[in-house]
Amino acid sequence: MRVLITGGAGFVGSHLAEAFLQRGDRVTVLDGVNEKIHHLLAHPRFCFVRGSVLDGVLVDRLVGEVDVVYHLAAVVGVEHYVSNPLKVLEVNVNGIQNVLKAALVHRCKVVFGSTSEVYGRNLQVPWREDDDRVLGSTRVDRWCYATAKAVGEHFCFAYKRLGLPVTILRFFNVYGPRLDNLHSGRVVSVFIGQALRNEPITVMGDGGQTRCFTYVDDCIHATVAAGVAAAADGEIFNVGTDVETKIINLARLILELTGSCSEIRYVSHRDVYGARYEDVPRRVPDVSKMQEILGVRAITSLREGLRRTIAWFRGEGIEQSGTVVSYAPGSQG
Ligand code: UDP
Repeated sequence: MRVLITGGAGFVGSHLAEAFLQRGDRVTVLDGVNEKIHHLLAHPRFCFVRGSVLDGVLVDRLVGEVDVVYHLAAVVGVEHYVSNPLKVLEVNVNGIQNVLKAALVHRCKVVFGSTSEVYGRNLQVPWREDDDRVLGSTRVDRWCYATAKAVGEHFCFAYKRLGLPVTILRFFNVYGPRLDNLHSGRVVSVFIGQALRNEPITVMGDGGQTRCFTYVDDCIHATVAAGVAAAADGEIFNVGTDVETKIINLARLILELTGSCSEIRYVSHRDVYGARYEDVPRRVPDVSKMQEILGVRAITSLREGLRRTIAWFRGEGIEQSGTVVSYAPGSQG
């Protein structure tokens, strides 16, 4: 297969590129940076194109050369939602339209990387794919990402009516090697960074809020399957584990696995993100559709996934140029 991955030099995209190369496919990555795919640049079936998903002419040319496009290019991360909502909205709403327009012209399948954030703070967990979305006020910038991704999903279904094969994946707190840097970003990398530096672990609120942390290899098995299985066309899938973890327990586990002497410090959301932020108290997927149609289960325990992630951040898993070393194919997918 010939595969285009927009945002393919990001965290999930770089792992997805490795997975398709391991299958023997050809991979083109469109991204503005290439730090996370340095090790792939010399691979004979890999092509990196530096550019933006907002460049409609470029997107049209690249989509015309492949069988499936994964649209993963996005501005993601809570710190962006509250600091630069304009960029979040522009990139996330306009990028998907360029991809869909080009895909319709070239009759190319689209897999859209959406998010568990679209369910908002719906308290009725676990969430099935057709469940309601419960978001806060538009004055709270946190919700701009959920809104932009939901608009993207609506565009996907509008193009589906025109005959385009599209699949939507809602990722649940994916983590693993290459997630962000150790000073900002998502909670897993923030806590690992704090632990490795022996700085206080900043638990927001009382730490009783939960997430279902999904190891990247499990996420990638489902993501590949979504692009190759015809039964996935026209469908939305929750992608993740349904094992729920309190943030305070995540902090304790990272302290144990790193052997850190950091203390746990409780901080208020308002101190960190200001009034433009609201937290999501629980986030849990129903994963039966992923298991039944994509044939994938998330099997990596949080302990094992964190162990591998911490090892990578300690520099024990740095990739060699031209090789694919960090993706371990399992029996699934
Ligand atoms: N969180 C925390 N300390 C931090 C960063 C995040 O306790 O330094 C909590 C945050 O309040 C949220 C959870 O970790 O409940 C996940 O936050 P993240 O920013 O990773 O993404 P989200 O799942 O909210 O999109």
